[in-house]
Formats: sequence, structure tokens, C-alpha cells
Amino acid sequence: HDLTVISAVEHPALPKKPFTGRHLIDGGWRDSLDGATFVRRSPAHGTLASVSAKGGADDVEAAVAAARRRFDDGRWSFTSGKQRAALLTRVAELIDRELERIALLETLESGKPISQARAEIEGAADLWRYAAALARTIHGDSHNSLGPDMLGFVLKEPVGVVSIVTPWNFPFLIVSQKLPFALAAGCTAVIKPSELTPSTTVILGELLLEAGLPDGVVNIVLGYGKPVGAVMTTHADVDMVSFTGSTAVGKTIVASAAASLKKVSLELGGKNPQVLFPDADLDSAIDAIVFGVYFNAGECCNSGSRIIVHKDIAEEVIERVVELSKKVPFGDPLHPDTKVGAIISPEHCRKIDGYVKTAAKDGAEIRLGGGELAVPGLPGQFYQPTVVANVTGVMSVAREEVFGPVLSVLTFDTLDEALILANASSYGLSAGVWSESVHTCLEFARRARAGTIWTNTWMDGFAELPFGGFKESGQGRELGRYGLEEFLEVKTLQMRLGQSRE
Ligand code: NAD
Repeated sequence: HDLTVISAVEHPALPKKPFTGRHLIDGGWRDSLDGATFVRRSPAHGTLASVSAKGGADDVEAAVAAARRRFDDGRWSFTSGKQRAALLTRVAELIDRELERIALLETLESGKPISQARAEIEGAADLWRYAAALARTIHGDSHNSLGPDMLGFVLKEPVGVVSIVTPWNFPFLIVSQKLPFALAAGCTAVIKPSELTPSTTVILGELLLEAGLPDGVVNIVLGYGKPVGAVMTTHADVDMVSFTGSTAVGKTIVASAAASLKKVSLELGGKNPQVLFPDADLDSAIDAIVFGVYFNAGECCNSGSRIIVHKDIAEEVIERVVELSKKVPFGDPLHPDTKVGAIISPEHCRKIDGYVKTAAKDGAEIRLGGGELAVPGLPGQFYQPTVVANVTGVMSVAREEVFGPVLSVLTFDTLDEALILANASSYGLSAGVWSESVHTCLEFARRARAGTIWTNTWMDGFAELPFGGFKESGQGRELGRYGLEEFLEVKTLQMRLGQSRE
């Protein structure tokens, strides 16, 4: 291989002991009722990163009961927007203060590069600040044209108790795409982080208590999808489920939540295309393609995992992407220069490899990478930056979410053909277009079936702009004003004034 590999480095700042995580229930830290625990080892370093309480159904019961009581007594839901904003701002400040500690733990549990973990935590603090600003903007409508003695009011109220279930790839960012918006709306919550990355959510719980959040407003239960996630998403006292994770689990959540007609908001997988036209600024496009596919080792719902390139420039693009890919520093996630870290688990690494091997068998051409690679000094699993050319729309590598550092390259002749390929997916999270023609960009943007369209850029994100998926990429939106509205109910209040007039 000709990759840029970063071997294991010495880390004086590494914690001597694993992080210990317990459930946060009604303002107190608790072990599981049955005393069970589970551990997480660093996927890069093999060291013990954390020991966490392993929740059972009874722990969830206690957490939901606390969230329900606190919601119903109005101690949070009837606070003013000003008070909520002050608290959310304080949390943002505490996140800033704890940035290094959170980023290090995030890297140890997930295997992501420390520089990317820091950026993630900074982005999360920004979301707490943005939600704080939104907390003071909640209002409804009034109607005074309903007749001489009638007034109508439309009130925006918190949905109630929200169950928040999050995945392992951006644990701190994703909980921050949900929780501050739910709190701004006046909801109470029960949270379950992924069993692979539980600890930074526990730190968030510590910061919420330090900021002065009343007991029981936010409860955290650690543990596995079953039973913890399953009980949280079916419990009769929960009003809404906000889930980020795989489409497969998202579908089971919708099905089970339907039994009690809970509101469900879902952020699921993606198979995001970028279309390159011959008039594109190739320098920028190639940078963005390489960043888009290797960011977070491709373990990213927004991964730009397939590019659809015009035939006339395809060979040039592939060669340049391969050359730039070789320069991307790959290896020890704790080294400040590393851009591609470890893969979350050995099973996931084998799954990624399965997609690549199947593509090769089906006639695709592996132009770079195509296998695991041992990083000197580290016991964990790493997958090589991989470029697969000659991919056709029917191959699994072009249709399914590989969730690894693997780029599929497809080619097209006409805009219509590019759109057919881009939309030939059960997902619809994001899509990109590269062209100097504003007409080409807008036509693609209007016809592409995806929640976010990037034109001449990839994977920017703003707290102000809604994010979410079409088709099997989800339902509902996070961020922006839409992200707040998800957590609000509409109540109509009608008031008759004085004597009714016939
Ligand atoms: P996952 O679906 O396996 O798990 C997500 C969470 O759900 C975890 O906390 C898990 O413990 C829990 N869970 C598992 N089974 C459950 C059940 N039956 N009931 C309730 N909860 C259950 O996903 P993952 O592997 O952790 O994350 C990767 C997936 O997340 C990818 O598909 C990725 O695209 C998606 N993702 C989407 C976005 C987005 O915003 N669209 C962002 C990040 C990740």
C-alpha cells in the first residue's frame, strides 16, 4: 500500500483508569437495580475505556417515571423562555470548559481522530447556544376575526416526555441535535446513548446537573437496544421518540410506537451521491470528495460514499482522488494529524470488507485499498481508504450504506442519467452537485430526492438549517426552527366573551 500511516504514539494525557458511568435518574447517579455492568474497549488501542451500568427494564421504568413526574408538575415546562435560555447557555459554557475531557473520551470509545472529536464537541456547544436563543422565540397565534364575541388562541406547548436514542458515530453531537431543542421547548427526557459510546453522554448529564437543571428533567439510562431502547420507545408514559440510528432499527421503532400513537422523529441512514459535471471546479470537488468519504472513517450518515462522474472526466477524477487519498493520514486517532481512525468494531470491519470483496467479484475495480491494515503498535481494527471504480447501480456497494472509508465511482452521460443514478436508492439523506453552471446545479437540486442538497460544497452544517431525510433516511427534521417545532404540540384555545349574540 502507499498510504500515509501514523503509528502508535505515546499519550501522557491518557486517563489511568476507565471512565465509570452510571444511570442518571431523578437527579441522582445510580447503579443498575440488578448491579449489572458492561465495558467498552478502545477500538484503536484495545485499552479499557469505560465501565458502565447495564440498564434493565426496571431502570427504564424509574427513569420514565421521573421524567413523567417532572413534566407533569410543570417545574420545567412552565419556566420562562428566558430561564431555559440561561440554563442552556450555561451548559454550552460548561461544554467549552470540558472540551478536552469529552473529546478524549469520545476518541477512546469511538476510535475517531482527536481533532475531529474536538470539532464535534465545539459544534455541539454551538447547538446548545443556538437552542438557547430559540427558547425565547416560542409563541403561537391569536385570532380575532372569529365573530364579535369570540377569540381564538393557538398555543405552542412542549410535547411531553421524550425518549432520545442515539448511535455511536457522533454521540455527543447527535444528543446535542436533540436534547437542547427538546429542553428549549419545555420537554423532559430519557436518553440512551449507544452501548459502544456511552460515556460522553454521562459527562453531559454531569454538566446539566452543574448548570442547575431540576432533578428528573433529563434522565440517562445506559445499556443495550434491548431491553433499554425497546422499553424506552414503547413505554405508555412516553409521548415522543427521537431516534438516530440505522434504518432497520428505525422501522421497528415506528412499528412499536404506532401501538400507542407516539410521535416519532427519525434520523436514519444515507447513501449520498455527489454528481460531477465536466465544468466543475475539480480542485475543490476532489478535496471535498476525499474529505466526504473518509471523514469519521466513513462511519457517517452523510458520508459522500458514491460519486457519479461525467464520462469525459471520470478517469482524471479517479486518478486524482486515488493520489489524494494516499496522502490522508491514517492510523492512531490520538495523533493530532490523523484524519482516518479505527473502525468501531471487528464485526463492522468485516462487514465493510464484505461489501468491497463482493463488488470486486461483481466486476468492480479496486483502485486503492480494499482491506484491513494493521497500524504499527495498535491492536485495533483499521480499514484502508478504498476507491472502487467501475461500479454499476445494481451493486450492493452502490446501494447500501457501507459505513466505512469506501468510495464507489459510477459514471454518466446526461443530466437525466445522473439523476436516475443519484435517486436510485432507498435512502434520501443528502446529495451534492458540482458544476459552474447555476442552471445545472439548480435543476439537479430540484430533482434530487434528498433532504439536503450541497452545491459546490459538501457536508457543511449550520445550527440554523434543518437537517433530515427523504424516503428511508427518516422522518421529521432536526436543527433550525424546524428542530424546535418537532418538540412542540399545538393547542387551540377558544374563548367566548360575555353574552353570546344571536
Ligand atoms: P443502531 O440502529 O444499531 O443503534 C442506534 C441506537 O439504537 C443505539 O443506541 C442502540 O442501542 C439502539 N437500539 C438498537 N436496537 C434497538 C431497539 N430494538 N429499540 C430501541 N433502540 C434500539 O445504529 P448504530 O449502528 O448505532 O448507528 C449507525 C447508524 O446510524 C447508521 O445507519 C447511520 O447512518 C445512522 N445515523 C444517522 C444519522 C442521521 O442523522 N441521519 C446520524 C448518525 C447515524
